Amino acid sequence: MKLTKTDFLIYRDCAHNAWMKLHRPEVYLASPRSAFDLALLETGNEVDEMARGLFPGGILIERGDVATTKQLITERMPVLYQPVIETEHFSTACDILVWNNTLGGYDLYEVKASSGIKGDRAKAELYTYDIAFQVELLRNAGVPLGRFHLVHLDSDYVREADLDIFSLFAIRDMSAEVEALRDQIAAEMETAFEFMNRDQPLPGPCSCITKGRSNQCTTFAATNPDVPPYSIHDITRIGASRRKLADLIDQGIFAIEDVPDDFPLSESQANQVLVAKHRQPMIDETAISDFLGRLSFPLAFLDYETNPAAIPRFPGYGPYHHIPFQFSLDVLATPDAHLRHHEFLHTDPTCPDTALIAALEAAMPAIGSVLTWNQSFEKGINAKLGDRNHAARPFLEGVNARIVDLMNPFKQQAYVHPGFKGSTSIKSVLPVLAPDLSYKVLDIQEGATATTKWNDIVTGKVDAAEAERLRSALLTYCALDTKAMVEIWRGLHQIDVQRRATM
Ligand code: SF4
Repeated sequence: MKLTKTDFLIYRDCAHNAWMKLHRPEVYLASPRSAFDLALLETGNEVDEMARGLFPGGILIERGDVATTKQLITERMPVLYQPVIETEHFSTACDILVWNNTLGGYDLYEVKASSGIKGDRAKAELYTYDIAFQVELLRNAGVPLGRFHLVHLDSDYVREADLDIFSLFAIRDMSAEVEALRDQIAAEMETAFEFMNRDQPLPGPCSCITKGRSNQCTTFAATNPDVPPYSIHDITRIGASRRKLADLIDQGIFAIEDVPDDFPLSESQANQVLVAKHRQPMIDETAISDFLGRLSFPLAFLDYETNPAAIPRFPGYGPYHHIPFQFSLDVLATPDAHLRHHEFLHTDPTCPDTALIAALEAAMPAIGSVLTWNQSFEKGINAKLGDRNHAARPFLEGVNARIVDLMNPFKQQAYVHPGFKGSTSIKSVLPVLAPDLSYKVLDIQEGATATTKWNDIVTGKVDAAEAERLRSALLTYCALDTKAMVEIWRGLHQIDVQRRATM
């Protein structure tokens, strides 16, 4: 079994996981790829293709076509895209090879859909090994070599009228770093090859047993069957304290309900464990009343959907700047008033900024609190909108000054429920406070899918009928985000009303 570059890089991160990928694909891919992961893949391909414009006139090699690659290299074809190189144990597809007449060898360009490695040691190591693996393979396959480069997006780039790919991309010469690994990489690759071809995986538990849930890969449950689905690994921010996890594991404790009462935990961790044990919520009615008392009517519940395009589509945008293409706004004039719903969705392939701001100005009440969930996101979108559209800046700054985060009572432990499982995401809180409202029945159930489907509409990937269906699904999804906030506010309001009635 030949090892690909991806296999090798996964192996360097976690040998156990890499072995499962090759030998137990049904476990490794137990859950289908998320919309987020698929969007990442698509972005990577899009950036790869765009970077080829830096070295025009090349030949694109078909996936897996080693023979054509070999022939074109022998003919010294000046530019090759996706050339496929294999040796007895390894295979890889390089992004771009460019013949360097001066050095009499091919320069390698590895394209990444991310900003550079400055200040990020983990990324610098990953990318260096990524290129070193390819160089080792090229060298062993007898390809004459020149310099080795990383091509990445320049996060300082801001698009003007036209896209300038020579400013969008930055190129970093990694030859010295890669050459420094020359002896080491060959040995590491052979060790990886031997490990990956062994018959049996390493015995469990794997090393993520002492890490928080967010570190664990898809094979964790198969390798650690003693760990229940809701476990000590789900205790909020427990990953920051591996010693605590290790202490619990040493005592044979995996279930969250089994954590001893006197075990040292932070307040939010202890509360999470306590409600799980007693299966009862903890509600600080006074704190909830204080939070609600700081709100002023009319209440406006605001939610944006955005697309963080890697390649800036419109003037004023840089790599991964969010394009706000949709909002939902629900307005409640008084606690018992009829809810007024406003919505906006831009599905032209043009910049949505102007139309979105106009629609928001028309719908937004002049006074009152603006409620969002995780305020930094909506505030950040408004700030960037104001930067690109100076005339609207006072309005957008005014909205930001009125924003209140509806997540705060949950973050600040005024309401802790076993059903939240330590999370304060709206998708964890909603089923408890408004069980009749559910994302699970929707065609679009989360933001990553929303952004992908919007992209499909505006780039013409779907026909008119499908675009109309997706448009409707997007409106339903975003409307539920604000409706969910309204219902959560109502749940808190009800607690406040009952408290006052008993005072
Ligand atoms: S859960 Fe962690 S240690 Fe275990 S296989 Fe996955 S990445 Fe490796």
